[in-house]
Amino acid sequence: MVREQIDRIGVVGAGTMGSGIAQVAATHGYDVVMRDIESEFVENGFDTIDDSLGRLDTRGDLEADPETIRDRIEGTTLLEDLADCDIVVEAALEELEVKREIFADLERVCDEDVMLATNTSTISITSIAADLESPERVIGLHFMNPVPIMEGVEVVVGEKTTDDATELAHELAEDLEKTTWEADDKPGFVTNRILMPWINEGIRAYDEGVASKEDIDTGMELGTNVPMGPLTLADHIGLDICLHASETLHEELGDRYQPAYLLKRKVEAGDLGKKTGEGFYEYE
Ligand code: NAD
Repeated sequence: MVREQIDRIGVVGAGTMGSGIAQVAATHGYDVVMRDIESEFVENGFDTIDDSLGRLDTRGDLEADPETIRDRIEGTTLLEDLADCDIVVEAALEELEVKREIFADLERVCDEDVMLATNTSTISITSIAADLESPERVIGLHFMNPVPIMEGVEVVVGEKTTDDATELAHELAEDLEKTTWEADDKPGFVTNRILMPWINEGIRAYDEGVASKEDIDTGMELGTNVPMGPLTLADHIGLDICLHASETLHEELGDRYQPAYLLKRKVEAGDLGKKTGEGFYEYE
């Protein structure tokens, strides 16, 4: 069913998530157009994809060779190149105004039956779609980081999202060998509503001297059986992404979601985690 409707997938943003979504779609045989605002960012996206495909290939986890998969992805800075896509997944900055502008542009260039999905972590799907002529085709398709590895995808249903769009979102994610769950369009959905306070509390515990950062991470890993502690996970997500997500939750849900002081200072200092080489830890 999904293959009858979708051959070509557009991805907006070639960062951590956009490059991962493009890679996974191409790995599953879809043609992909990956768009960012500068060619340098598109190239960075391809570098991330090459590294990831190389690692998966070495482990024998790819069914096609990396070059074949990569060749299915076209990189671009032009919005118009998304015009022929059968579905577009937006994975740009976690800011409502940025996303609203992108969706207005997409509505202009894409056919009216094209599903428009957002990978937002916390922003309301209904708010993103509010000014569009056809908000019923907008849906949350929330992939997890790193996209090639993580199995889950959260499908988030906006106020106006149709049942057809919801069904197609589940089918597409399942065709990418992901397992889905559905969340209503409430702040943070299921995952980030619960994850972000956990991360912020880890940062506060570190800032208040409860334990060293390593001991906080080890304590949570071994004590609660999660693969990464809160500080390491925040670095992997990106501290700017964590801050934006926390601010959205704080605005919508009140004081219990206040971002940690040290998270704000780290972002101001430009230490955004793994992607900048330094966050709570240092990376090569
Ligand atoms: P990122 O900062 O790594 O990448 C964002 C990319 O979007 C950048 O390359 C930027 O140049 C590009 N961009 C900005 N404006 C654009 C525009 N108008 N058109 C095209 N590209 C544009 O961010 P990310 O971590 O990939 O996050 C992307 C989205 O996915 C956010 O909404 C975020 O909340 C969500 N998300 C992130 C994670 C995570 O762990 N990082 C997990 C799930 C969801």
